[in-house]
Parts: sequence; structure tokens; C-alpha cells
Amino acid sequence: MSPSAVARSGPGLVFAIGTLALALLLWAALQGLGAGRIQVWSPAETETAAGATPVRGGLRLDGGAGEVRATLRWRVPASADGGARWVLWVPRAPVDRMRFSTPGWTGPVHDFFDPRVEHALPGGFSTPLPAGAADAPFSLEAGSGGPVGVYPLLVRENDTIVLEQRAAAAASGIYAALFMLSFLALALYAAARDPAYLMYFACALTALLMLAAINGHLYRVAGLSWFGRWRMAGIDALILGFLAAWSRMLPLYAGAGVLPRAAERVACAIAAGLLALAALCLLDVPLLQPWLRALASGAWVLVGAGSLAWLALAVRGGAPMAWPLLGLLALTLLLAALYRFLPLFGTLDPLAGRYGFQAGIVMLFTVLAVGLVSRVAEYRTQRDHDRLARADTERRMARETARNDLAHALQSQLRTLAPGDIEHTAFALLFEHLLPLLPVESAVAVAEGFHGRRLLVVRPEARHDAAAEEIARRAVPLRRTASAGMALQYLLGEGGRALTEALVPLKVHAPGWGGVLLRREGTEGLTPEELALATEFTRLTLLHVEHAVTAVQLRRSAELDALTGSLNRRSIDQWLARAFAEAERDRQPLSVVFIDIDHFKSVNDRHGHAAGDHCLRRVATALRAALGESGLFGRYGGEEFIAILPGQGEPLARATGERIRAAVERLDARWEDRPLRLTVSVGVAARREGERTPEATLERADKALYAAKRNGRNRVQVAPAVFD
Ligand code: GH3
Ligand code: MG
Ligand code: MG
Repeated sequence: MSPSAVARSGPGLVFAIGTLALALLLWAALQGLGAGRIQVWSPAETETAAGATPVRGGLRLDGGAGEVRATLRWRVPASADGGARWVLWVPRAPVDRMRFSTPGWTGPVHDFFDPRVEHALPGGFSTPLPAGAADAPFSLEAGSGGPVGVYPLLVRENDTIVLEQRAAAAASGIYAALFMLSFLALALYAAARDPAYLMYFACALTALLMLAAINGHLYRVAGLSWFGRWRMAGIDALILGFLAAWSRMLPLYAGAGVLPRAAERVACAIAAGLLALAALCLLDVPLLQPWLRALASGAWVLVGAGSLAWLALAVRGGAPMAWPLLGLLALTLLLAALYRFLPLFGTLDPLAGRYGFQAGIVMLFTVLAVGLVSRVAEYRTQRDHDRLARADTERRMARETARNDLAHALQSQLRTLAPGDIEHTAFALLFEHLLPLLPVESAVAVAEGFHGRRLLVVRPEARHDAAAEEIARRAVPLRRTASAGMALQYLLGEGGRALTEALVPLKVHAPGWGGVLLRREGTEGLTPEELALATEFTRLTLLHVEHAVTAVQLRRSAELDALTGSLNRRSIDQWLARAFAEAERDRQPLSVVFIDIDHFKSVNDRHGHAAGDHCLRRVATALRAALGESGLFGRYGGEEFIAILPGQGEPLARATGERIRAAVERLDARWEDRPLRLTVSVGVAARREGERTPEATLERADKALYAAKRNGRNRVQVAPAVFD
């Protein structure tokens, strides 16, 4: 048995014991209804004609075609006859036209299917006797549709009331219980929409009708008396209908998967067959009647044995309440068999026998109801499980979406940024995407020496200054915690309230450090899942920051000259093309300046290549400083530099050239503690109108430079002065 089956049978056992106690209580209460002992006398002598057999305490009608006659004689003890009126009381059995008579007196005619009965729930047929007639031999005339046990009792008139009360109490208890159970099943069906409840409802209702018919009470109900028209065939139809509903309900009760599908299919087929037989009964074909009667009896046995086997399988499958049901079913079948057969041999009190097996059926339905109700718990568990799973999936999806959004935002926004802005923007994006999923009181991204910079992003932004101050105060412990390298949480007592802070460290090269601080009120802090989420998002952000920074560096290195850090030839060419196109478009002046170090070869020759490189760097720095913001500057090749001066015409460009020249002349360059004298020659050329590309201007500038060299070096030469 699976653990869940054990868990289910635990309360089932408690319930079974409780139900048994209740059943005993009910039985005792029914016994008490008698209010004192009553004396009844069975006939002392019974003589029968053909078609009937005397049995102990009465006679059995064989149910032949004709009417049966019998003679019954009582021996009434003298002491019992206190002048009371006597009644012949026969427990109700399906008999037709039953009548007692003596010579000179004839009693009323009783018919089981007759709706005109004076009691509400009659337990027997009463025949009041004329005074002093109790000792006389009575002839009994009766007919029946099948074998029936008839047990006439001689009872004092007052005692018949007690007998009727007992029978009515037992019957009403049984009907009320079945009525309530079927109503409950209907309510459960309305709530749960489980077909098992609907089938239970049908089954309990059929049982109610069947028992009412067996007890002879159905025909008295206004609106249902027409059912008596079918007589025994109607009872058989109800029995078959009940058995069909029962066979159909049992597989539904156990639930899918408890039994092999083949067993369920067999149960369905049997149910359909029984229903067909029930319909056949109602066709009321006299020729078929004896066969159908036999089949109805056989169906009890078949369905009973099938249900026992079926429940045994259900016990193995762990269906709820299967054990108590199995026991109760066995008991009820035994009682039903006793009720069915023992009266034919005069060995069972007919009243006790009848209500015994009917009480068994009620108990069976009660326990079955508990088994079915326990399915509600299963729905609830299932629903809770579904709901949790759905919430989980939704949360997961929200996180996945946020993660993708963050990755996308980082990818698209960091690419276009300047190096100083990348980190700040990245962590602002992190908070923008993380915090909606992770409600916190405040979030801070802090780093020192992160790509050579400080970082401080604070959410909500209003807390920025306070956070900066606090971080400065806590820098030492924070750096220590962050260097542990893994996300962790700790309690902060701030201003007398409990705060939890989670720290997700950033990978920053020592001595730098960094971390994301997420603060939440209370002592609970972030769940492990939330902490993992924060860590994952932070890691993603860092990854994109590294990519963006690397991309910027790569871009830079492609644009810059490695030795001097100024623009390289390729970039200069691009800038030249752009500057000339813009200048022509905007009709603006533009000049180009070539700068060449004088006698540079001799620096290399005298001091070595390293000294030459050193000089190139010093000159580049000096030129850049001299130019300032006024123009673009780059290394054109070897020891030759170029400056592009947008907006400067010839006179301005000349002045700039002169400034440059003077700056280099003033330069205090040294190599291995020896001073180096460096000068440059400068060639200037201004763009002429109509020149949208740089080639011609460059050529004039080059010629001007050449002229400067020729004229003695360390001087500025302007193109038009020479060539025009
Ligand atoms: P001039 O005054 O006529 O310009 O004389 P110069 O010696 O400067 O001119 P020249 O073109 O004859 O020599 C240029 C030298 O610059 C040759 C080369 O060795 C040196 N040079 C070019 N690029 C580099 C460099 O990247 N590093 C070093 N150390 N030397 C370089
Ligand atoms: Mg040169
Ligand atoms: Mg030179």
C-alpha cells in the first residue's frame, strides 16, 4: 500500500468504528420503540391445500396461478384472554387478495399493492376478529406472484399499535437516511461536478424506491400508486435498476486508475444488461415473468459477488473507505440472503429480517458517502497543487521576461555610451528591472576602483546623499564582506528597527571592491530564491558592463596611435574627409597644418630608438596642449603630425602653427639626464573655395612644410605665400 493510501485508511478506520457505534445506538433505539414486551401467538396448527406448504409459524405460498386456501388454528392461553379484542396481524408480504374467515364471519381483503391503507407506513395487514372468535379455526385465502412466506400472528388489539409503530419507525429511519444521503450527493454534484456524485444520487434514490416497494409503502405515496399496477414485476424492475446503478457507481467511487480498465468496462456492461432486464420487466409480459423473477434473484448474487471482488481490488488500490465498505457489503449481502430465503422455511422473524438487511443497505450508503466525500479533499489538494504550480510558473516567466528585458536593454544602451557612463547606466538598468520583482526598502550599487572609477547608484534616488554618507562610514566592513565573494545577508539594527541587508558582491580588481546592497525591513530578509535572482541579475549586468567597456577600448585602440595616444592615420583620414565635406557645405574656413620634427633621424642615431620614441610622446603631448580645443590632432606617420583646424582661415592657422612651433621649442625634453633640443617645421594650408576633399590642401601644406625645411627648419610656412 502506498503511504497516501495508509494516510487515507487511518481516518477511514476511525470513521468505521464510529459508524458501527452509531449503528448499534440506532438499533438499541429502535428496540426501545416497542415500549415493553408484547405477546404474539403463532398458529398452533396449519393445514394447507395444493400451492402452499406449512412452515414453522405460518405457511409458504408457492405462487402458482390460482388462489390458495389454508386452515389455521390458534390455541390462546386462558390467562392471556382478559376479555381483550384480538387481531390477526400478518407482517406485510407481497400477497394478493388475502382474507381470513370463519363460518359466519369474513374479514377484510388485503392486497399488498393496494394504495388504500390506513397507516402511513404500514408494517402488517390487520384483521380485527369478532369477540370470542380467537379459538375458532380460520380459513385463509390468498394468492401471490411468487414464493412468499406468510406469518399470521394473533395479537391483542392494543399491541398491534406497538407493532405498527416499530415497523414505521424502522422504515422511516431508513427512508430518511437514504433521502438525506441522496440529497447530499446531489449537493456535492452541484458543487464538484463529479459524475460519481450524480451516480451515487441515482443509486441512493433507486435504493429508496426499491426498499419502499419491497416494504409495500411505495404504492401508498400520492402520485406513485400507479407503480402498483406492475405488481411483482415492478419490484423486480426496481431491484434490477438499483443493481444497475450500483454496478455503475462503484467504479466511479474508486476513482480512475484504482482498477484495471477491463474491470471498469465489465462493470459498465453488467450495468447496461441489468438496465435492459429492468426495462423488460416493465413490459409486463406474463410469459417472461417467472424467468425475470429468477434473473432478479440471480442478479443480486452476481452483483453482490462482483462488488465484493471489486471492493477487494479497491482495497489493494487504496481507494478511500474500501475496507469498511467491503465488510459492510458482505454483512448486507448475508442479511439480504437471510431475508430472502429464511422466511420461506419459517426460520426468521420476518419484521426483524426485513429491516435488518435494509439497515445494512443504509449503512453501506453512509460509508460510501464518506468515501465519496473524501474525494473532495483530493480535489482540494489537486487544486492547491495546481494553483501553486501556476503561481510558480508565472513567477518564473515574469523573471525570465525581466531577465531578457534587462539583457536587451543593457545590450542596446551600453553600446553607444562613453566609458564613464557605462557602469552607472548599467546599474540603473539593473535596478529598473530587478526591483519590480524584488520589493526592497532601498537598493544601492557601490564600487571603488571599478574600471578606475567610483560607482554609486541609489534607489530610491532621494536616498542618494544619505547612502553616500553611510557607505563612506561603513566602507571598511563592507569591503571586507564584499571580498568574501558570495552573496549573503545580515541583520542591521538601525534607529531601533530591524533591517536585513543582502550584499551581492561585484567582481572588482583589488584594491577596488563593490557590491549591490538590498535592504528590507524586518528580520526575514530575502528568500534564497530572491537572493539567487539578485545574484543572477547582477552577474548579467556585470557581464554586459565588461563587454561594453572592452568594446569601447577596442574601438579606441583602433582609432588611436599606440605610441602617442593621438589619432592614427586612418582616423585622421576619416576626420579630414568629414571636415572638408562639412566646411564646403557650411561655407566655413578650414586649415590643415603639417608638423615634422627637425633632424629626428639624428636623435635616433645619437640616443637610440627608445629616446626617439620618448621624444615622439613628448612632442605629441606638447602639440596637443598647444592646440587645446581648437582642432583635431593626430600622428600622420613617422615623426610627422597633422592638425585639422575647422573654422580657421589662413591668418588664424598661421598663428596656431606659430603657437605649436613655439611650444615644441620651449619643450624641456631630456633623455638619460641629458637635454634634448627639439624643434619642428610647420606647413600650413587653408582650404580654398570649392574644395570638398582634402587632397589639394594636403598637397599645398606638404609643400609648405617642405619649404619650411628648406628655409632653415624651426619655422612656419603658409602655402599661398609660397605657391600662389
Ligand atoms: P628632417 O629635418 O629633414 O625632417 O630630418 P629628419 O631626420 O627628421 O628626416 P628623415 O625623414 O630623414 O628621418 C625621419 C626619421 O624618423 C627616420 C626614422 O628612423 C625615424 N622614425 C620614424 N618613425 C619613428 C618611430 O616611431 N620611432 C623612432 N624612434 N623613430 C622613428
Ligand atoms: Mg619626416
Ligand atoms: Mg623630420
